[in-house]
Amino acid sequence: MCQLFATPVANQIQGEVKKRVDGFRQLHNRPPKLSVVLVGNDAASQIYTRRKGELATRLGMDHETILFPANAIPTHVREQVQRLNEDPLVDGILIQRPLPKSFREEEVLYWIDPSKDVDAFHPLHAGELVLGIPTLQPCTPSGIMELLAFYKISVQGKLVCVVGRSPIVGKPMATLLLNSDATVIHCHSKTPNMGKLTREAEVVIIAAGKPGLIGSAEIQPGAVVVDVGIHRNSDGKLCGDVRFDEVAPIASAITPVPGGVGPMTLSILMRNTILAAEQRAQL
Ligand code: NAD
Repeated sequence: MCQLFATPVANQIQGEVKKRVDGFRQLHNRPPKLSVVLVGNDAASQIYTRRKGELATRLGMDHETILFPANAIPTHVREQVQRLNEDPLVDGILIQRPLPKSFREEEVLYWIDPSKDVDAFHPLHAGELVLGIPTLQPCTPSGIMELLAFYKISVQGKLVCVVGRSPIVGKPMATLLLNSDATVIHCHSKTPNMGKLTREAEVVIIAAGKPGLIGSAEIQPGAVVVDVGIHRNSDGKLCGDVRFDEVAPIASAITPVPGGVGPMTLSILMRNTILAAEQRAQL
């Protein structure tokens, strides 16, 4: 069994991003800038936001986090996003999820100008992804494709099962796989006999947000297993949607939690930010 550690892939992507950031600075006499909007005080969101800022700084980008209280009025947040849309010095904008319940996700998706939408959640990007048009792509699924490619795991012609159909992970994941010539089985919370389907697959990608959902009974020996889930167990340790100790001995390759998918997401976010900056400079 091979563990698919993100570190070597993430380092490679970050090295490339750093070079592009240096080039951008020389050409435009300013660094690319990422603005993150954080509403409320969700502890995990605060950690993720801090990490994004730290990595952006390390790669030579400018970065800011704009904070709103949990009871912020959505219109006020929207006005702030609009100011960022209009600010020529801002290249990438990201609204940290989850948002408080007063925010309607189907409206928020339209707030960020697509040219600055580095999470690639805007419906325009979702449509371009389905059509196979090169564009900014959602960070987690895009990072998983990079991880598989780095470890020379081709999905072409393979039977791949995706568990989870959220607009930010499961759906774009299934689309990217389809665009890469995989045959995709897509499972979700209403799929009966899911284990029968996951067991068929040569590659299984799980983004269900349910700790320990998948065990050895749901995986065929020799399969590649990608675990997107992140949870903290009762001992305070990080774990995924997969029962790692059970599945690792039978899988041919598996992503650890932590150290698998998570760092890929961050690296692709940085790559999307420099890409957005480069593309905007050409507008
Ligand atoms: P979500 O809650 O929005 O979606 C979960 C999906 O899983 C839903 O489509 C649902 O139908 C499906 N599902 C739920 N229970 C199921 C079950 N018992 N059987 C089959 N399908 C089931 O979650 P999300 O935003 O897609 O995130 C999923 C997980 O990935 C979470 O643990 C999240 O923290 C993690 N995540 C990690 C990263 C990363 O960078 N590593 C990024 C995003 C999300």
